[in-house]
This record gives sequence, C-alpha cells and structure tokens, in this order.
Amino acid sequence: MFKRTIYSEEHEMFRDQVRRFVEAEITPHHAAWEKKGRVSREAWLKAGENGLLCAAMPEEYGGAGADFLFSMVVMEELAKAGAMGPGFSLHSDIVAPYILHYGSEELKQEWLPKMARGEAIGAIAMTEPAAGSDVQGIKTTAIRDGDEYVINGQKVFITNGGNCDILILACKTDPSQGAKGTSLILVPADTPGFRKGKLLDKVGWKAQDTAELFFDNVRVPVGNLIGAEGRGFYQLMEQLPQERLLQCVRASSALEAALEWTVTHVTERKAFGKTIGDFQNTRFKLAEIKSQAVLMRVFTDRCLEMHVAGELDAVDAAMAKMLTAETLCKCLDDMLQMFGGYGYMWEYPIARAWADARVGRIAGGTGEIMREIIGRQVTGGR
Ligand SMILES: Cc1cc2nc3c(=O)[nH]c(=O)nc-3n(C[C@H](O)[C@H](O)[C@H](O)COP(=O)(O)OP(=O)(O)OC[C@H]3O[C@@H](n4cnc5c(N)ncnc54)[C@H](O)[C@@H]3O)c2cc1C
Repeated sequence: MFKRTIYSEEHEMFRDQVRRFVEAEITPHHAAWEKKGRVSREAWLKAGENGLLCAAMPEEYGGAGADFLFSMVVMEELAKAGAMGPGFSLHSDIVAPYILHYGSEELKQEWLPKMARGEAIGAIAMTEPAAGSDVQGIKTTAIRDGDEYVINGQKVFITNGGNCDILILACKTDPSQGAKGTSLILVPADTPGFRKGKLLDKVGWKAQDTAELFFDNVRVPVGNLIGAEGRGFYQLMEQLPQERLLQCVRASSALEAALEWTVTHVTERKAFGKTIGDFQNTRFKLAEIKSQAVLMRVFTDRCLEMHVAGELDAVDAAMAKMLTAETLCKCLDDMLQMFGGYGYMWEYPIARAWADARVGRIAGGTGEIMREIIGRQVTGGR
C-alpha cells in the first residue's frame, strides 16, 4: 500500500485538531450556510482562534510561523468533509502571501494579524465580466492622483467576495499597456465607492460567498500598492502555481472521501438479492477509481514536496491542476451513478461533491489554459 510520507507527527497532531474543529464548527452549519450563500463571521473568528488561518504566516505577523504543509492539512480536512464554503485557503494561502511577499511593512503589520485572527477576510479580484482567462485584458483602472489611486471598474466571480474586508485588486495603473500596465493594489472593503454586488447563485460551492464587486472612484493611498507599479501581472504569474497546487490538494482529498462514502453505500444497498458492490461492474469501476485516487495523491504529494523545496514550476502546477480536476469530475460522475437516484439528491454528500468539483476545471485557470501552458513547453515554447 502507498503510504504518505510528506507529513510529520506534528502535522498529524494538527490534523486531529483541525478534524475536531471541522466536525464541531463547520459540518453542523454547512447546510445552513448553503442556504444563506455564505459562511458565518463567527466561524471565521473561531477558525482564527484555533489556528486554522494563516498558519504559514510568520509569528511577527500573527501567524503560527508554521510550514506550508500545516495549511494544507486545513485544506485536506475541509475537503474531506465536503466543506467547500469556507474560503480559508484562498484567504490564508493566496491573499495573505501576496501581502507577505510584496506588500510594504505597514500593510503587513496592519492586515496580516487581523487576517490570522479571522477579523479581516481576504479576497483576490482578477476576473472581470469581459476578461477571465485573458488576465492582460482587464479594464479596471487605478489612476494616480497625488498620493492616491482612483479606482474604477468591476470584478466578477470573486471568492470570499461577499464577506471580504480587504481585497487584492488586479488593475491597470497604465491602461495603455497590457501586462506591463498591470498592478496589484490592496483595497479595504469599507473604502467609499466600493460596493459588493449580489452573491452569485452557483451550480456548486453553495456556501461560498462568490460575488461581483464594483469600484466607483474608489480612492486608496499609493502605499496600498502591492509591490511595484506595473509588476502585477508577473506577481500573479509567480503566485498562480501555488493557487493551482491548492486545488490539487483539495481534489485529491475530495476524491478519497467520496470513495469512502461510495464504498459504504455499495456495501449496504441491495438489488437483485445482492449488494451493489457484489456486481462486477461496481468492483471494476471502484478499482479504477481507487487507482486514480492513489495516482492523484502520489502526484499531488510530490508536487507539494517540490513546492516546499521551491522547485515546482508553472508547467508542473498546470499539469497537476488539469489532471486532478478532470479525474475528480470523471470519478465523481461514476460514483454518483453507483448511488442511483440518491446520488442526485442534494442531501447526499456525493451529489454536493459532484456539483462542487466542476469548478476545478474553470477557476484558477481553465483546463484549456492549463493545456496552453503545458503545450507551449512541450513544443519548445512555440
Ligand atoms: C466559483 C468560482 C470562483 C472563482 N473565484 C475567483 C476569484 O476568487 N478571483 C478571481 O479573480 N476569479 C475567480 N474566478 C474566475 C475564474 O478564474 C474564471 O472564471 C476563469 O479564469 C475563466 O475565465 P472566464 O470565466 O472569463 O472564461 P473565458 O476566459 O471567457 O473562457 C471561456 C472558454 O474559452 C476558453 N478559452 C479562453 N481562452 C482560451 C485559449 N487561449 N485557448 C483555448 N481556450 C480558451 C476557456 O478555457 C473557456 O472554456 C472564479 C470562478 C468561479 C466559477
């Protein structure tokens, strides 16, 4: 049997703590959050109190100063529980790192401790109604006026958009340029002129507060620039492999959990005087899914190892994201089938997992964009 080797005893002790937290504070509320379209503030604050947020941030900025794998433990336990509502990982492992790596000392001191406590929820806003895959095509502008930027534009499909207190905004500080005119700016959600639109009614991820955001002459100090002007596109490209890796970790855990639920179901449910699991078709399908789950896990763990060593590149991350997202969808579809009509009922976790998985092939870069990234390297950059 394959044994995971990337986690230490400390990681596993932390996992027990996270699992207990998820069982007590997340799972019992998740269905209610799905109806509201958002996770409660209270859950964020409790997650902060219990060390589930920004674990990998340095202690001087309120984090636990732990390694990146501690954050992955949180991601894995939420995914195993089928809890796609809490955008903890986006907050801790995508938004906070932008501030840590590129933000000024003032921004780090001001925001990271609040993020670690769950008092300030973070989002990242790249996608616009007319520009998603084509990040260079974004139209939101931040034009300098003295010591301030004046921001105008619109964003869509923003994870944590409904709850967010701060966002990292991808915008054009020089609209005459493509990539070179793009910058990242931190925008506090209470800035006049900033408005959150409605929570979006999605196919899955029902408890996740994905939203539209509007900017109408929003003024922020130039000190809110994350890194240098015109560096935004490159910063995004530097951080996207980590974002894609997170999705692989989520997909691998979601698949393992769904396999367990399915095995339980097919060994209990009967038809024609046997259990569903007694049919050869079921065993063959489960054998294929189990093998895919192991393959995904081994590949994902190796990518994690490489990432921690600073060796994972954009092509590795694209391959991992593309394969894990697509394999998860295919396997979940086969497993849902084994539940028959029950598999189509929202109250069954397999139905939710099936709907939740689909976004993995879209968000954080579509399967086609992953193929572009990989294909360009395969053909020697042509
Ligand atoms: C639930 C959810 C959460 C999200 N969270 C965030 C978030 O937090 N922050 C954020 O900024 N964005 C977020 N997104 C947006 C997401 O990253 C985009 O939806 C995604 O990048 C695709 O962009 P698009 O929707 O504009 O599709 P488009 O770019 O319009 O693509 C449409 C189709 O054309 C294909 N296509 C585009 N270009 C090419 C090409 N060069 N070659 C071949 N095919 C191509 C695409 O693959 C796709 O199939 C989220 C989306 C969802 C659904």
